[in-house]
Amino acid sequence: MPKVSVHWFRHGLRIHDNPALLESIKDAEKFYAVFIHDGETAGTKITGYNRLYYLTEALNDLDSHFRELGSQLFVLKGEPTEIIKILHKEAGINCITFEQDCEAIWNKRDNAVHHLCKELGIELVERISHTLWNPFEIIESNGGQPPLTYEMFLQVAQALGPPPRPCPNPEWDNIMFGEISDELAKKLKLYPHVPTPEELGYTQDCGESPVYVGGEHAALAHLEDRLRVEEDAFEDGYILPNQVNPDLLGPPMSMSGALRFGCLSVRKFYWDIHNVYFKLYKGEPPPSHSLTAQLIWREFFYCMSANNPNYDQMKGNPICIDIPWYTNEDHLTAWEEGQTGYPFIDACMRQLRKEGWIHHVCRTAVACFLTRGDLWISWESGLKVFYKYLIDADWSVSAGNWMWVSSSAFERQLDCSTCICPVNYGRAIEPTGDYIRRYVPEVARLPQEYIFEPWKAPLKVQERAKCIIGQDYPQRIVIHEEVSRVNRKMMKDVSQRLKAVPPHCCPSSSEETKTFLRLPKSCFHNVL
Ligand code: FAD
Ligand code: MG
Repeated sequence: MPKVSVHWFRHGLRIHDNPALLESIKDAEKFYAVFIHDGETAGTKITGYNRLYYLTEALNDLDSHFRELGSQLFVLKGEPTEIIKILHKEAGINCITFEQDCEAIWNKRDNAVHHLCKELGIELVERISHTLWNPFEIIESNGGQPPLTYEMFLQVAQALGPPPRPCPNPEWDNIMFGEISDELAKKLKLYPHVPTPEELGYTQDCGESPVYVGGEHAALAHLEDRLRVEEDAFEDGYILPNQVNPDLLGPPMSMSGALRFGCLSVRKFYWDIHNVYFKLYKGEPPPSHSLTAQLIWREFFYCMSANNPNYDQMKGNPICIDIPWYTNEDHLTAWEEGQTGYPFIDACMRQLRKEGWIHHVCRTAVACFLTRGDLWISWESGLKVFYKYLIDADWSVSAGNWMWVSSSAFERQLDCSTCICPVNYGRAIEPTGDYIRRYVPEVARLPQEYIFEPWKAPLKVQERAKCIIGQDYPQRIVIHEEVSRVNRKMMKDVSQRLKAVPPHCCPSSSEETKTFLRLPKSCFHNVL
């Protein structure tokens, strides 16, 4: 039977290093490229404007690629299984390919598709390229359980050997693209073009202005810039430049949106950075995985969540410690809207809502503030806000990080005897206050000495700066010195009530904590 295949893009929105796509076109008589708006795929279930805008750009980028080849990306609306049934019946498709989405949250969708394909006799090809290693292989090699600490994860990964190198680009020369008739288009609810966020019912509701451009082309161009930064760092004798000097004011450097949507292959990112190092230090191997240690965190969290459908909540989640968090809608809203009265925290939250991305050091600061540091509100509430606004929002990576920062899993070193001070931390990371001035214009005219703690400014100074606290900018909603003391005690009580320290609550070393928090060494001791 001639092969009529569909490559279903979900994440993995790229042409390069796409093994499932290669399988799709191999010996195919006819080929279709498809994306399905089912209200969930690619994180569209809880999403704000920025992430959807990023997704739209990524889909447009793919669409133009296929249009140059005389076809298009078919963007359809509906349930994946219903769509597959129609494509099978009306277009004769007998092969479906896609990239593995390893997080447990996609199990229901993908199990249904597996089941249907079996029933209809459709060949289903699933390939791993969203992660460096196959999370299920890691779990298997670790005796059926995900490795519980980063260190253990590294050991298992090390035993499996280096991750595969990227696969070649597809050759399109002899590929016949399938067409969709007007009649079939109606049945499949084919969009006439990639729908805009507005067409999908999303509006800019908090001054969104995207900073990152979505799509493979932009991601690959961005990678070139990023590799130059890595090379400069290697030449200067250090690694992980994005972490060593957190730069909150410079041009956007992150690849995280591109990695989340798969506009950039994580294997390409990994190997390109290693290649830069190899080239520079001829023959000398880099210090294990440390060049790309952040990518290992990503793998670790994906792996942890692969067989844990409750990974994003406290209840029914075996790795999450039960903590009796407060419910306080006013505080939660103030935090979400960047109205806590702590300018550094507010700057971070406003940048998040506006641009859809904030630096790791900002994420840790706002997450600690919401949870064990100041407001004592559940990490689950913060996670939902991150899911909505981050362009790189990852079900498992975000939940894993939230559990880390809130002391709900993984970490013991911080132990809440130390928690991030919303004043000192901000000052250590970006002492000039320009970051605050950029996102919290109300306090911009205050002298530098007060910009991190405006409530300390004498009334005269506030008047001169046209920033009366409690009128032009909020009073701080809690007093950090007081609440953090109470919270510390509550956290101690929680840990004393634990019968035994869960095995995952122990970073391998204090170095690991520092690496996770990404604090410049110089300021590790006076920000907490
Ligand atoms: P780089 O240093 O360049 O790292 C490269 C890549 O490594 C990142 O793009 C990311 O894919 C991965 N990575 C880096 N740090 C981590 C980490 N701590 N855990 C897992 N993977 C990491 N990252 C997400 O990709 N999606 C999220 O939803 C997300 N939510 C977070 C929530 C909280 C509370 C915290 C503290 C962190 C979260 N992170 C998340 C991790 C991290 O902050 C971002 O990946 C990072 O800021 C992206 O910037 P970058 O690309 O410049 O990082
Ligand atoms: Mg990056």
